[in-house]
Amino acid sequence: MDFEENIGHVRERIANACRRAGRRPEEVKLVAVSKTVPPDLIRRAFEAGLRDFGENRVQEANAKRPALSDLTVTWHMVGHLQSNKAKLARELFHVVHSVDSLRLAQKLDQAAVCSDDKLPVLLQVNLGDELTKSGAREEEIGQLAEQVGRLRTLELRGLMVLPPFFEDPEQARPSFRRLRELAKSLEALNLPNVSIQGLSMGMSHDFEIAIEEGATIVRIGTAIFGPRS
Ligand SMILES: *Cc1c(COP(=O)(O)O)cnc(C)c1O
Repeated sequence: MDFEENIGHVRERIANACRRAGRRPEEVKLVAVSKTVPPDLIRRAFEAGLRDFGENRVQEANAKRPALSDLTVTWHMVGHLQSNKAKLARELFHVVHSVDSLRLAQKLDQAAVCSDDKLPVLLQVNLGDELTKSGAREEEIGQLAEQVGRLRTLELRGLMVLPPFFEDPEQARPSFRRLRELAKSLEALNLPNVSIQGLSMGMSHDFEIAIEEGATIVRIGTAIFGPRS
């Protein structure tokens, strides 16, 4: 696996999408989703320049972490998170993209070691399609944002969406657009301690479209690490 080549290619595609959208490439953070990837390959991706990694399972992240503890990495939790794993998740991750209930947010808040320690979180939104199982419903997001804003050790940074897989990535565009509009309407509410600037959207097959629609974080696995078995 030639990580430098893969990463270079992904960065070039990010830059091209930004150019089409009149945006700057620095506005888009690349999170390498390393689920199922063993620690030695994650280390090689780090050596090739990546600093943000995403995992979707707490247990797997916990098992891999000892072998990577010397690396200065920002770890992102991008998968569905059960409340009973919140404590361990808080120890393992620096950003959680998948907050979808008040209960989970409260558990993450209670797991803080001290109140100065703020965990950046995003709210995962289910935009109402039947295929998407996780995420808070769009109608609930306003209230959830307000409630999360009141939790002392969480810092609400934005929204995340995981649209169903479409053969034609153009079909994901309406979801990305809708997430951006939802974020804009939440920002307009001026909720205390709430910022919805971050938009975590776009994966290997549709990140360019997500960037055209305003993504500030793209979560990319396959295009960096190759297909998962
Ligand atoms: C696996 C995963 C990704 C990355 O998917 P690729 O198609 O491999 O780029 C992004 N986000 C989430 C939530 C994932 O579970």
